[in-house]
Amino acid sequence: MKIEFYRHSIEESDIDRVSKVLRSIFITTGEVVRDFEKDLQTYLDAKNAIGMTSCTAALQLSLLAWGIGRDDEVITSPMSFCATANAILHAGATPVFVDVEEETGNLNAELIENRITRKTKALLPVHLYGQMCDMKRIRQIADRNGLLIIEDAAHCIEGLREGVKVGQLGHAACFSFYATKNITSGEGGAITTNDFDKAELLRILRLHGIDKSAADRYTKKYEHWDMPVLGWKYNMDNIQAALLLGQLQRIEKSWSRRDEISMKYEEAFGSLKQIKLMKTVPHSRHARHLFTIQVPEEKRDSILIALQNRGIGVAVNYRAIHLLKYYRETFGYKNGDFPVAEDIGKRTISLPLYPSLKDEEVDFVIQVVLEEAKS
Ligand SMILES: *Cc1c(COP(=O)(O)O)cnc(C)c1O
Repeated sequence: MKIEFYRHSIEESDIDRVSKVLRSIFITTGEVVRDFEKDLQTYLDAKNAIGMTSCTAALQLSLLAWGIGRDDEVITSPMSFCATANAILHAGATPVFVDVEEETGNLNAELIENRITRKTKALLPVHLYGQMCDMKRIRQIADRNGLLIIEDAAHCIEGLREGVKVGQLGHAACFSFYATKNITSGEGGAITTNDFDKAELLRILRLHGIDKSAADRYTKKYEHWDMPVLGWKYNMDNIQAALLLGQLQRIEKSWSRRDEISMKYEEAFGSLKQIKLMKTVPHSRHARHLFTIQVPEEKRDSILIALQNRGIGVAVNYRAIHLLKYYRETFGYKNGDFPVAEDIGKRTISLPLYPSLKDEEVDFVIQVVLEEAKS
């Protein structure tokens, strides 16, 4: 049996929608992007959504739109994909890490205030694997200290905690439609925000800083455009949006199947002393982006190889960011700086989790993991 780590769920209807765009004259940012943005807004109960080329770009521009840059510090999690901290550097600011909770891998709110300095301008929590952070608590800390909140919601479109969705207590939330995310256009991203002025600015910043888009020039008679600010080239195009529209309509169905699979894994591994699982926090809906197990550090890499030898695709999400070479060499981070994140990074294994995974495949993954973890 060969079980891929991830398979996308693109259907014929999605391909038809993309074909329709390709047969039309207008393939860059236009009406289809607008349609997708509107659907995303509705799904997330957000006032604005802005289609981007990636979550990395979304994070960078969100920081910049709120005026965060040089000499500013942004508090974030070392237990994330490096894009999270990289985006802070792209904005010209400095990432300041705070260790994570053992039970969820999310930013430990208890530790945030110790790390706030006069330079701190924002908090950048990551909803790891799809479990939402304690946004009510994080919002209180932000309000008390006059800080901005930008959420890295790359794993968590479907998340909910105590009735709060992603983006509702933050100033902006950033999403990824990268090849292995819950909905995907190969590459892609988005920002949601309830701030109309910032949304307007973000639309300008994603397209060079010019005040009229190609769609404006195409749909209306030619008007001269100006460039009031220096922007980037991070606009989502109609082809990406066409691929995403149908997946967003099916998002709940896909989530249900991932939830079902996750519960099967939890049932199979929950009582095993050799395997530790992350917790789903009460009163929350886990977006179920990744399912991870934690095994003893000295056995992790051999189990990774054993699973692959038996045809099971795996991943490591993530080795702690501060121990990556660039971060060690640039900022002098070392082993022991953020012990909880480091421990997760040395013990974690991600198992296959996607809607098209069949029951027999889930059973096989469970059987092999049990054999390898016990041996
Ligand atoms: C994938 C991912 C990103 C980056 O998304 P891109 O769209 O590839 O830029 C950022 N943060 C987290 C937590 C991710 O998993």
